[in-house]
Amino acid sequence: MTDSLLQLTERHVDDEGTVKYLWTLHDGRRVETVFFSHHAGPGQCLSTQTGCAVGCTFCATALQRPARNLTADEIVAQAVEVDRDCRERGMEVPWRFVTLSGMGEPLLNYDNTLEASRRLYEWTGIEVVSATTSGVVPRIYRLAEEETYVQLHVSLHATLNETRRQLIPTTRKWGIEEILEASRHFARTRGRRVIVNYLLFESVNDAIEDAHRLIDLLDPALFEVHLLLWNEIPGFDFRRIGDERVHDFRELLTEAGLMAKAMPSKGREIQAGCGQLLAERSA
Ligand code: SF4
Repeated sequence: MTDSLLQLTERHVDDEGTVKYLWTLHDGRRVETVFFSHHAGPGQCLSTQTGCAVGCTFCATALQRPARNLTADEIVAQAVEVDRDCRERGMEVPWRFVTLSGMGEPLLNYDNTLEASRRLYEWTGIEVVSATTSGVVPRIYRLAEEETYVQLHVSLHATLNETRRQLIPTTRKWGIEEILEASRHFARTRGRRVIVNYLLFESVNDAIEDAHRLIDLLDPALFEVHLLLWNEIPGFDFRRIGDERVHDFRELLTEAGLMAKAMPSKGREIQAGCGQLLAERSA
């Protein structure tokens, strides 16, 4: 149904089997999709826009402007094409994870994200489709009321508004407390925890004080934390922290009763960070 929407432009595989795809759309815009294999099964990370106006200072997708919304067909087509590629390689793919966390802010392409989620549930038979937002507060409230459940990941990345504005400059409109209040509402309404993504950067947000503030901000009944490592991008003024530091940060959170996972870093050598491959090709 959707296979003519995307033309495969590049495909890169790393030693662990993570695959990064670069597609060209009918209007010449390009988007990326990542296939990854997790201990619990295979997953896909799909894009929802061709760039991103949110402008996170650590993200290569932010360099792609102006962003255009992908249609629901274009979002689903990524999953169809990755599935086809996996099957051609002889893989069994009972999909376990489909996440709308690639290029773009899914809640700024709300209707198409929701429609694509509905179709992805039907097509993959998957239990949960998830989406990652930078914190578009009114849309979080709206998503909480939808018939279709989309697991919410909120990219917090900071415990102080000042630090967060340095990382995500265009989210000045909503502060951390407003984003978390909307997320609490979502978690209570849906009866499921919201995942707080926390990307750790050396000397920016990785201090013990940050861990303590995170503990104060997050109710363990409503939130789970995913600690993420940044894939370095040449020319970006951030440093990735070491595994040991992530471990220590996580220990502080779990000792305080928060569910916290250190997420494995995938595809570092194939530019699997969001928008990274495309940024290199556009440079
Ligand atoms: S991290 Fe996500 S929200 Fe931020 S610029 Fe990149 S794609 Fe957009």
